[in-house]
Amino acid sequence: MSIRIVLVETRHPGNIGAAARAMKNMGLQELHLVRPRSFPDPEASARASGADDLLETAQVHEHLEDAIAACGLVVGSSARQRYLSLNLLEPRECAARIVQASRSGKVAIVFGTERTGLTNAELAHCNLLATIPTDSRYSSLNLAMAVQVFAYELWLAMRPGAPLPAPLEVPLATGVEMTRLYKHIEQVLEQVEFRDRTGGGYLMARIRRLFNRAQVDQNEMNILRGILTAVQSKRRPAGNTVESLPSQDDGMEKSS
Ligand code: SAH
Repeated sequence: MSIRIVLVETRHPGNIGAAARAMKNMGLQELHLVRPRSFPDPEASARASGADDLLETAQVHEHLEDAIAACGLVVGSSARQRYLSLNLLEPRECAARIVQASRSGKVAIVFGTERTGLTNAELAHCNLLATIPTDSRYSSLNLAMAVQVFAYELWLAMRPGAPLPAPLEVPLATGVEMTRLYKHIEQVLEQVEFRDRTGGGYLMARIRRLFNRAQVDQNEMNILRGILTAVQSKRRPAGNTVESLPSQDDGMEKSS
């Protein structure tokens, strides 16, 4: 099982250390950092206590896309319910979904920067949104404490003896495959001269939201890419496709 914690633009290195400790207590190992303000940092090591091995193996990325490129399921965590187009889960329900998806692919749980949380652009990469229920008058937890709550729920769902959910029938498409799909859609929309009528250039953002919410699996991805390629082959004067699929038939054969 591969479940990674992704911390985006963490300002306080102490929070990175405390998050690493929370993870290690609960059996999680993979820490990914996107543009941390300061890392490595003595404050992170001090707060990690006995979890400095997680800091040593932590991977640092410039972009969130890179941190989730290999992941099927991507869960965003937010204190505020501001991204209403995504299903909103509590950590417990979320943990069950994560454990299931992690049986056939990599999963990421993404945490935002301390003061402002995840941006809409960052949330647009997520398939699910999870909020830790709190007193409505003060809903924002300390970053590392939010990591602790998710890690604890994952531990309960995965500890020895916990019932193992059946794996997904077909693994989910990965982040990098989703990025290719969006490029392909953009290209086809351009070729068929489809007009963005969202009034503000939101068309691609809305399309992303739609497909991320749908949690596209590998078969569905093959079908979608096959359809796009078929549209292009009718219209394209010559060349100029996004990296092509193995073959359209592959997807159709496996789909149920
Ligand atoms: N005002 C910000 C809080 C940032 S706290 C917001 O609205 O999200 C830093 C990060 O900790 C958040 O981005 C989120 O990933 C996590 N976090 C804090 N409180 C949370 C809560 N109640 N539920 C889920 N995640 C939370």
